[in-house]
Amino acid sequence: MHSTLSAGSLSLRRHLVDSPAVPDVVLPPLNLAEVQRSVATELDRIAPVIDELGALFEAAGHELALVGGPVRDAMLGRHHNDLDFTTSARPDETERLLRTWARSDRGSAIWDMGRAFGTIGCRKGEWDVEVTTYRSESYDPSSRKPEVDFGDSLDGDLGRRDFTVNAMAVRLPGREVEDPYGGVVDLAHRVLRTPGRPEDSFSDDPLRMMRAARFAAQLGFTVDESVVAAMTAMADRIQIISAERVRDELVKLICAPYPRLGLQLLVETGLAAQVLPELPALSLERDEHHRHKDVYEHTLTVLEQAIALEDRLGGEPDFVSRFAALMHDVGKPRTRKFVDDGTVTFHHHDVVGAKLTRKRMKALRFSNDQIESVSKLVELHLRFHGYGTGEWTDSAVRRYVRDAGDQLERLHVLTRADCTTRNQRKADRLRRTYDELEERIARLSEEEELASIRPDLDGTQIMEILGIGPGREVGAAYKFLLELRMDNGPMSEEDARAALLAWAAER
Ligand code: ATP
Ligand code: MG
Repeated sequence: MHSTLSAGSLSLRRHLVDSPAVPDVVLPPLNLAEVQRSVATELDRIAPVIDELGALFEAAGHELALVGGPVRDAMLGRHHNDLDFTTSARPDETERLLRTWARSDRGSAIWDMGRAFGTIGCRKGEWDVEVTTYRSESYDPSSRKPEVDFGDSLDGDLGRRDFTVNAMAVRLPGREVEDPYGGVVDLAHRVLRTPGRPEDSFSDDPLRMMRAARFAAQLGFTVDESVVAAMTAMADRIQIISAERVRDELVKLICAPYPRLGLQLLVETGLAAQVLPELPALSLERDEHHRHKDVYEHTLTVLEQAIALEDRLGGEPDFVSRFAALMHDVGKPRTRKFVDDGTVTFHHHDVVGAKLTRKRMKALRFSNDQIESVSKLVELHLRFHGYGTGEWTDSAVRRYVRDAGDQLERLHVLTRADCTTRNQRKADRLRRTYDELEERIARLSEEEELASIRPDLDGTQIMEILGIGPGREVGAAYKFLLELRMDNGPMSEEDARAALLAWAAER
């Protein structure tokens, strides 16, 4: 029988599409048999490393196991050549054994990742290997010992890892899977759970709360309710963690395939209020006329649209572009004004947003380059909206290019991504107008290599023509000529000389 959709089901569908609460990534559960097959395949692929190292450590009387990320990723059918191991051997002994292993390859290298923490690294051929001595089972917060306590059992080591899916190992050389906390089952259900009580785990190391959000974003996993509850209750403990470590997790989260999952978790648990308060502040209550969209939801969509345009930036996750998308409207809450006619304005939210962005990135210890790039994008993200239907002068286009500098391609991405209207005709119109702007830029830059605009006369020529020595006057003349160049495009040396003399006479 052929059934027709009732009006009721149609409106339900519309509701579902509109609702930001519906996550847009729901990956199906994994089949356990398939997981086992994936691991077997991956272990065969990395056999040249694990068989040899396993035999070497065993012969020396030590335990060795592949652990953490590579085991988890093998189960997910993902392959990489960075392999983490854990061992009963102490660091000096590990180093000696790695040297033996690496000897056959002249290009190999061994390095100390932090002997006090028990990690020795080794690169051999295409493989990057890190071997860490077992950590001890229990963590004693009252202990003031600066160095890590080494442990002597694999299970003890696994028990102090962050999540059950990261607390699995493959013993070598026998390849027995060690999974004391049910990591395989959690992995199949795509859920993050802590090996012990989440409160204890986060109390030992609050950074793990950030890591929960990071792994949710990287793996597309959900986070167990008990973990979410602990994160919510303990969010303010993140303050004892250094800004650099928080930043590193945030960067990984934002560059992951599903940043929305991680960001929503940070916001919902209150962690974002601690580490990136500008983000939850975007959830502005709607005004009574529902005239403006929720800026928070808009921002997440802009981020995803910017990600969809990353082909233009080389195809790899681009942190600066993504973070600019996330921060582009953070000036809105502070600049919001309700006007008498019932509309809402956010005057200068670009400038205010750039300031807030700079401040936040400084606090998170980003590099100056990153800070300058992101805040420039935030500051310029609105400029195009003065473009109207193409009535910018050539001079305005030149300024757009000059002001964007080396961020121009990212500015194209951000401006295009910053259109989340449901009105298809309006969206199409904006896209076409931006296409036109890019065509104009291409045309102009062909004509005059816009990116390297200089005035038509250099400093030496200016001093010669005006008969003056170095000083402020030369700078003023240079600036005048640069402005002239911006307004009119290139001019002949003769014309530039005449313009300069006229300018000087005027002063
Ligand atoms: P990637 O290297 O791609 O960032 P990963 O899963 O290897 O991902 P790492 O941060 O390198 O993650 O950590 C390696 C392993 O060490 C993890 O799988 C986890 O078992 C453990 N680990 C790392 N940091 C912590 C921590 N703060 N608390 C508990 N366990 C941790
Ligand atoms: Mg790693």
